Amino acid sequence: MPDSLVVIEPATEAVLDTVPRAGTAEVDEAVARARGAFPAWRALTPAARAERLRALVVVLESHHEELALIEARNAGKPIGDARGEIGMVIETFRYYAAAPERLLGDTIPVAGGQAFTFREPLGVVGLIVPWNFPLTIAAWKLAPALAAGNTAVLKPAELTPLSALRFAELAAEAAIPDGVINVVAGPGSTAGARLVEHPDVAKIAFTGSTSVGRSIAAGAAQTIKRVTLELGGKSANVVFADADLELAAEQVPGGAFANAGQDCCARSRILVEESVLDRFMSLLEPRVTSIRVGDPLDPSTEMGPLISAGQRDSVASFLDDGVPVAFRGSAPEGDGYWFAPTVLAPTDRDARVMQEEVFGPVVAVMPFRDEEDAVQLANDTIYGLSGSIWTRDGARALRVARAIDSGVLSINSNNSVRVATPFGGFKQSGYGRELGPRALDAYTEVKSIYYSTS
Ligand code: NAP
Ligand code: MG
Repeated sequence: MPDSLVVIEPATEAVLDTVPRAGTAEVDEAVARARGAFPAWRALTPAARAERLRALVVVLESHHEELALIEARNAGKPIGDARGEIGMVIETFRYYAAAPERLLGDTIPVAGGQAFTFREPLGVVGLIVPWNFPLTIAAWKLAPALAAGNTAVLKPAELTPLSALRFAELAAEAAIPDGVINVVAGPGSTAGARLVEHPDVAKIAFTGSTSVGRSIAAGAAQTIKRVTLELGGKSANVVFADADLELAAEQVPGGAFANAGQDCCARSRILVEESVLDRFMSLLEPRVTSIRVGDPLDPSTEMGPLISAGQRDSVASFLDDGVPVAFRGSAPEGDGYWFAPTVLAPTDRDARVMQEEVFGPVVAVMPFRDEEDAVQLANDTIYGLSGSIWTRDGARALRVARAIDSGVLSINSNNSVRVATPFGGFKQSGYGRELGPRALDAYTEVKSIYYSTS
């Protein structure tokens, strides 16, 4: 195995950087460093640990633009989106910097004494993240893990290691002690798999595809590792006839095509009440066909390239299924993994584009008859991550939101991810929740102590 990882810029197909490639030996070293750092990190007073995380926030703030540029070039994101994502990274660390001092237990009345609980860190946690939101998803895991007193080994996707590697340098600058944060930039099949099987890793927090999630759950079973899985999605926009159709048409493209559709939350099925289908489609068409696809570093760009040639082929395969095209936007020609935003109009509810995650800018429109049909259709998938409901009827909005089997939903909005609210999936979109106060549950064990007073 060659010992360097060649990092490609998806907008140009040129080499962006070359970094050392971590394999199983580097993972073992990283786990040993994390294990060595754990006792002292855990033993810090809550106030001291909070102080270290606040220092990290300050350093990240002063490198906001640099990190955004790395992410924009390595992942092909519009620079404005990349700035927003790094903003969320900072907000996530700021939010969890308050957590060490708020990790409370319970006191429980029992006969003959007193019982109380503590929240103990797990030890070394392994964090495996995908290429679509490289540093954001890493922060969702790292911040609560560190706040709770764990040390971490982070494995970024081999396509997008640069922001994580730079982050580790900035953490050192912020005087996060050596060994608390370790980054191993290597392939999933070697570095990732070693992290999953390593006996000194207490937990794997994984974000990625459902198929890799299955193999991680199976691998982690050997050592009874704790596992949380944030997996794929096939989320729905449910547009009722009584919705503000202008608002829905304005926002649906953002929910479907943000990050070029390479978003686990992508609302990639657009379900529309049949009585307004034609009107809604005529409102949607100009919004989709005018999406500006191009250079991620141009501030007017709304959509960048896909991450790789392989991803582009996989997305393109959905156009080979013979499903009618409703309309398409345009994309640059030439170097870069470009793909035009595309809306398909399948007639069959079992069409592949209605069932499988595309993870690219191809979405499907399907009419529904009434509320019951809408819910049935929205739930007709193995996934349950996200979705949007568009209606002016508040009672209906709530009924439908309760009936859709999905971890995260928004009403009259295309986005529902907030640092303070839980994020995660139902069904084969995974288990466990990130963000919000409960994310700390995923990085702690509850210890119950009985103290005899007799
Ligand atoms: P992926 O192929 O599942 O890879 C995710 C991560 O797992 C990468 O770091 C990958 O490493 C690693 N990996 C691959 N095989 C592994 C193995 N056998 N053992 C351990 N680690 C392994 O996913 P992706 O293609 O990067 O990302 C797209 C998927 O992520 C989509 O399905 C999307 O829905 C999902 N996603 C979910 C969420 C969520 O929060 N629910 C958020 C974002 C993305 P290498 O790539 O370096 O080989
Ligand atoms: Mg992959």
